Amino acid sequence: MSLNPKRTVAELKELRELTADENGAQRVAWTDVWQKARKWFATKLVGLPIEHHYDAAGNNWVTLRGASDKTLLIGGHLDSVPNGGWLDGSLNVLAGLEVLRRFAAEFKGKPPVTIRLVDWADEEGARFGRSLLGSSAFAGTHSIAADRVRTDKDGITMEDALRRCGVHMDHFPEAEKERANAAAYIELHIEQGPVLEKLGLPLGVVLGTKGVERHAITFHGQEAHSGATPMKQRRDALAAAAKLALEIRNIAGKHSDAVCTMGSLQTFPGIVTAVVGRCEATLDQRDLDGKVLAQMYREAQEASKRFAGEENCTVEWSRIWSIEPIPFHSHLLDLCEQAVREISGKSHRLPSGPLHDAAEVSRAGIPTVMMFVQSLRGISHNKIEDTREEHLEMSVTALDRLATETVDWILKAN
Ligand SMILES: [Zn+2]
Repeated sequence: MSLNPKRTVAELKELRELTADENGAQRVAWTDVWQKARKWFATKLVGLPIEHHYDAAGNNWVTLRGASDKTLLIGGHLDSVPNGGWLDGSLNVLAGLEVLRRFAAEFKGKPPVTIRLVDWADEEGARFGRSLLGSSAFAGTHSIAADRVRTDKDGITMEDALRRCGVHMDHFPEAEKERANAAAYIELHIEQGPVLEKLGLPLGVVLGTKGVERHAITFHGQEAHSGATPMKQRRDALAAAAKLALEIRNIAGKHSDAVCTMGSLQTFPGIVTAVVGRCEATLDQRDLDGKVLAQMYREAQEASKRFAGEENCTVEWSRIWSIEPIPFHSHLLDLCEQAVREISGKSHRLPSGPLHDAAEVSRAGIPTVMMFVQSLRGISHNKIEDTREEHLEMSVTALDRLATETVDWILKAN
């Protein structure tokens, strides 16, 4: 039995049928629909020469034992955001399953190295606002104390929701055992952005995930009557924030892949007859290069002080969250490029703006690489998320090729 990428597309449609409604995919982690998706996935394993278990953090592991204990990991996530698309995360899992089936068939149940497919628990963080939960438990970077008390919109704590699914947060550290013998990790994902479509390329090699600096910025001015206060005497906090909102485009524009976003802006008192006395903004900055990220952060801070001064205001910053850039393994990047070239003729290397489970695996010191397949219109986390079927099929074939090359590399390196 050889690789059958058409089966992957058929299974993706089957999963969509089972877990989507008219608004899109509803496989939010720790919900009944998500568990239904996982039960459905388990039926696809029947008859394969594998072992199947859930680890202490709820990650779903399928193991095909090989002649060597050295292990190739292939990952994805069946969970989705509410009203999500049919491909985000599930393409990775089902393509990985097809690759695993091919190895099982070709090597009569015993490939040269062990192959493990993992469906990570709660990649999206859609219900509790904590992304990459299962993979962070695997990597040992979890934050149990902070996470267990998180609540969903109905006030249910994360700890209770997980317990209902048989997962006890105290046991999270046991998930680190799954790292044993891991020699490499590969993950296929839809791009979720417009770059590959614009270049007319079906597949791309992911350089790594961008680092993120995320800050709250507050400008303080003076509330004053809109009729009585002359223009020259105003201390308009919105004017200072507005200048910064435009300046971040210049700050990001000096670097080819950098992005800066002011996603939220609130004015106080926020009424039509008052000059804005206080303006609260957020800034999200991302780049694959830590030095670029640090420079952009510095420049944004300097600019905010300059604009505050010009408007006779003051400014304060507080960090919401940050993560360093995580570049993928250089040799695996080469192997991925080779696989993409063989299957689609041309390759392109690009960074990932969104974070992925692969970032956590890489942080754990396991050589890691990701492959992207083109997203139509660059849209994701939306029911209109889509990719051409021929590109989906190519991506399964390219992942399979990458898996073969990575297995050879694992054998040679050890
Ligand atoms: Zn995803």
